[in-house]
Amino acid sequence: MPRTASLPRTEAAAPLRLEQALQLLRQAGVELPAADAGSAAWLQALVDGLVELSSRDALTGLANRRSFELALAREIDRVARVGEPALLLALDIDHFKRVNDTHGHAAGDLVIQAVADALRDSVRPMDLVARVGGEEFAIVMPNCPPAFGEAVAERVRRRVEAMPVAVAPRRQIRVSVSIGGAFAPQWVRSSPALWIERADAQLYRAKAQGRNCVCLEPAAVSAVSAEEKALLFGMSQYQDLE
Ligand code: GH3
Ligand code: MG
Ligand code: MG
Repeated sequence: MPRTASLPRTEAAAPLRLEQALQLLRQAGVELPAADAGSAAWLQALVDGLVELSSRDALTGLANRRSFELALAREIDRVARVGEPALLLALDIDHFKRVNDTHGHAAGDLVIQAVADALRDSVRPMDLVARVGGEEFAIVMPNCPPAFGEAVAERVRRRVEAMPVAVAPRRQIRVSVSIGGAFAPQWVRSSPALWIERADAQLYRAKAQGRNCVCLEPAAVSAVSAEEKALLFGMSQYQDLE
């Protein structure tokens, strides 16, 4: 473990208080090399470790809401610049309260972890899977043509439906997810909030249609909303697209 004496000092020559940060990292299984404690490389590793820790959801290891929103903003920028289609999926476990009520909260946590693994295994490395709420997930899919998005959403739904989850010795249950999706409007600047709102509206439709199904906003409807037009034409660098 690095000694306080070797830790870097601030301008006022007070030692940096890093013990708690190091403890958090250790708890998460990240060990920093003790040899060059205090070096620039060591500090960078410490910062990288903390960034990683603050981007991940502790239960599932997926991206958390914070990094999901950052990824969404980045993707919106890219779509507006490059014009590639991008899809946002919003997923919610069906009747999850029943799982908790019937099998207990710990079993509920196992279900959340199993669904997280299934989502992670169903997408490409470039896609970002996040846990954005208790039993709510989101997937950001860059460069995703509409037909491909539909197929992936359906693949995810079927995979979860077919997956037995062991919630106790000799006790397996099955769950399902409802999925809503919306494409980012191409060549237009949107906002993370508007995009999430559209995907959520489709998720709401999927729930209303009886759950365990996929509803994607038709790509043509994703074109431009009134609010997005306002965002678009309020920004001078995009005015030549008018
Ligand atoms: P619906 O099909 O409409 O989505 O019904 P639902 O029962 O899944 O929806 P609801 O939002 O009523 O229930 C979500 C439940 O998730 C309520 C809450 O107690 C539980 N929950 C939220 N976070 C966690 C968690 O981290 N672990 C566990 N075990 N349960 C959680
Ligand atoms: Mg929910
Ligand atoms: Mg639910």
